[in-house]
Amino acid sequence: MSEPSTLTIEDVRRALGFAQPLLKFTESDDAIFAYGVFIVSDGPHPNGPAKRFEIKCFFFKDFPKREPIVIENGGVIPRIADRHMYKNGVCCLCVWQEWLVLSQDTSFQAFCDGPLYNFFLSQTWFEQTGEWPFDERSHGAKGIAESISQLLGFKVNEQQANSYAQAILAKRVKGHWPCPCGSNKKLRDCHLDEVISLREQLGADTILGLQSQLQNLMKAERET
Ligand SMILES: [Zn+2]
Repeated sequence: MSEPSTLTIEDVRRALGFAQPLLKFTESDDAIFAYGVFIVSDGPHPNGPAKRFEIKCFFFKDFPKREPIVIENGGVIPRIADRHMYKNGVCCLCVWQEWLVLSQDTSFQAFCDGPLYNFFLSQTWFEQTGEWPFDERSHGAKGIAESISQLLGFKVNEQQANSYAQAILAKRVKGHWPCPCGSNKKLRDCHLDEVISLREQLGADTILGLQSQLQNLMKAERET
């Protein structure tokens, strides 16, 4: 993960201005604000019409420390979980911590060319075909569990993902704990290496971020 540096309005213009000539940019103390029409001009469907989305974005100046907020406010995308949209129009672009950890490049440009563009490309493709063009990540707690599975290198469900996060965050990992994978083995005889290497690789902040996102979503899903 790269050190946070100050994102400027020029950085945002450089990253987005050429590909997205219909976006306008302003700034406040802590964020660059981009708004207007976002164009998807190419994509997996060669004959597909260019698609236009009305959006507004908050790119915080401490990027990539804080996840950007992107809102689709033209009402083009249904505001439902299956379309990776929150009710308030916020787009669920990616699992932020996962993107930070798994991306070689976490620059603002890489964010624009990756999760931002791919979100609207996917939405366009989905509208035309009813299918998602990329490996689809589930919405909600299940999506975070998939993200944690990706990081661990093997598949875990939501509860197991939470237990792993707990074990990874513990002051001292104890080998006699039951392994969270559900094998009924002791951690030392099962996935201890993965737990320890993930802790070293990701750091406590990232794991805590993923875990709190997971717990909030699990709680919200229990309540509905
Ligand atoms: Zn195990």
